Amino acid sequence: MTDQPDVPEFPAQRGNAYRDTWCGEISPDRVGGEARLAGWVNRRRDHGGLVFIDLRDRTGLVQLVFDPDDSGTAFALGHKLRPEDVISVAGPVVERSAETVNPEIPTGAFEIRVAEADLLSDAQTPPFEIEGRGASEVGEETRLRYRYLDLRRENMREALQLRAAIVRAMRTQLDGDGFVEIETPVLTRSTPEGARDFLVPSRLQQGSFYALPQSPQLFKQLLMVAGFERYYQIARCFRDEDLRADRQPDFTQLDIEMSFVEVEDVIAANERLMAHVLGVAGIEVDLPIPRISHDDAIARFGTDRPDLRFGMELTDLTDALRETEFRVFRGTIDGGGIVKGMNAGKRDLARSELDGLIADAQELGAKGLVWAFREGDGWRSPTAKFLTEAELASLNGALGAEEGDLLLIVADEPKVANQVLGTMRTRLAERWGDIPEGANAFCWIVDWPLLEWSEDEGRWTPLHHPFTAFEGEIDESDPGAIRARAYDLVWNGSEIGGGSIRISDSAQQEQVLTLLGIDAEEAEARFGFLLEALRFGAPPHGGIAYGIDRICALAAGTESIRDVIAFPKTASGGDPLTGAPAPVDERQLRELGVTVRRPPAQQ
Ligand code: ASP
Repeated sequence: MTDQPDVPEFPAQRGNAYRDTWCGEISPDRVGGEARLAGWVNRRRDHGGLVFIDLRDRTGLVQLVFDPDDSGTAFALGHKLRPEDVISVAGPVVERSAETVNPEIPTGAFEIRVAEADLLSDAQTPPFEIEGRGASEVGEETRLRYRYLDLRRENMREALQLRAAIVRAMRTQLDGDGFVEIETPVLTRSTPEGARDFLVPSRLQQGSFYALPQSPQLFKQLLMVAGFERYYQIARCFRDEDLRADRQPDFTQLDIEMSFVEVEDVIAANERLMAHVLGVAGIEVDLPIPRISHDDAIARFGTDRPDLRFGMELTDLTDALRETEFRVFRGTIDGGGIVKGMNAGKRDLARSELDGLIADAQELGAKGLVWAFREGDGWRSPTAKFLTEAELASLNGALGAEEGDLLLIVADEPKVANQVLGTMRTRLAERWGDIPEGANAFCWIVDWPLLEWSEDEGRWTPLHHPFTAFEGEIDESDPGAIRARAYDLVWNGSEIGGGSIRISDSAQQEQVLTLLGIDAEEAEARFGFLLEALRFGAPPHGGIAYGIDRICALAAGTESIRDVIAFPKTASGGDPLTGAPAPVDERQLRELGVTVRRPPAQQ
């Protein structure tokens, strides 16, 4: 976690019956005066005839001393206080004796001698300890069930304050750059971002449904047609996907759109934005951010989200093996596949660990994995005997292998080989501690293909969304070759944002929809309003959307986006605190004209 960035000065507390200052504000100049404080009992210790309490509010901790000589009534209360009770106290601020100073907390040199104390609300024994940092040993289900207690922990408070600072920095920068913040509807029509919609039945038009937005994509394009030119929104988005680890069904985007722009303009504005926003979180972004073409990213890192904090790039070895008679490589190459490898550097691995790598590769979908250590001009590897000396030498050359380097090789269809090695590259770097502490690496992925062939659906599908503009003309005989005017921003191997220049011509938009297998009738029904708007003078426009949850998680240095969301859902899409999703009354269903077909198990 970084230090608290850019938090506006804490406002002074107007004195009232509860408090006249904050726990964290007790400082040398208060000594000799009185303070009135309010907050939660963080910890209580009984020492002989005295009771010590650490009082906690949003700003920190301060020690209270209850001494029967100061006030018998306060002492009696102090004696029975329990963790998480809510109290208000008043009394003189004094310096602690040198040997009792607590250097761990900013107020550790002072204490309040309690003269008056009020119990405002007592607390049941919490299901887990609040004090201290980290989620410790508490299961996440329990933390989420009692999220209001979990959020009392210092690290959670810091994470949400960091999030607030990041969002504030987004607004400051964009407002300064002349963007207008505009809200778009949450009850709307389906917009396609490739996921399933959450649907809301309409009571007034029974049988009809609103969709919750997967993104404000179409509305922001309409705002460009409307002439706003520069728009942004901190937008809640909803995607009903089978939850992969670390996805949320509702999440927050920073959504941006600009008119009369080309790729370069959007990238320039966004580099400034990101440098400012992440600067606030203490993260330096070197500008310009390097760009890698989509195809290069796949070739060198096996993924369109490359982590550039370490090396271990992939190398295509197919050419070095054109003539090979090794059955496994031969079969793959003849079948249109590739042989790809990476030099994993000097590693001292036991045979069982090498077997483990093979198992990893198979679990990721590869048929197998060849491992080898360079030894002299050849290899130490069970596979060495199947390759000629010349082949071993040229593989060593292609992989830049030095004596003792571990080489990992996969032969498969290009997609599988890239995916498997790309995933192993990051996994191994993490496992072997290759990623430098505190390093940050950003890159833009550019020159995306517009479309990819979906085996499942038997049609071309967009890599971004159907409104993405492309270079040149559409060649229907080779849709896979069309290049999108799209860009994604990747930070340490995570995609944090993506966008494109949009199609601003109605006829061209229809052409792309046709290419996607959406016929004129369906196009009219689903996107007629966009096609129509584009006929009323649409400026060239483009934009981007960022995943705020992901950005905040990376900035906070936490693994899980749930740690930067106040009330997140579990991996199965539930909220253990409120019990959502939950059945509703028969009456509500009747009003909506909805009948539930329960899964057989519940009938
Ligand atoms: N609407 C897109 C998304 O949600 C982002 C964009 O193209 O601006 O991914």
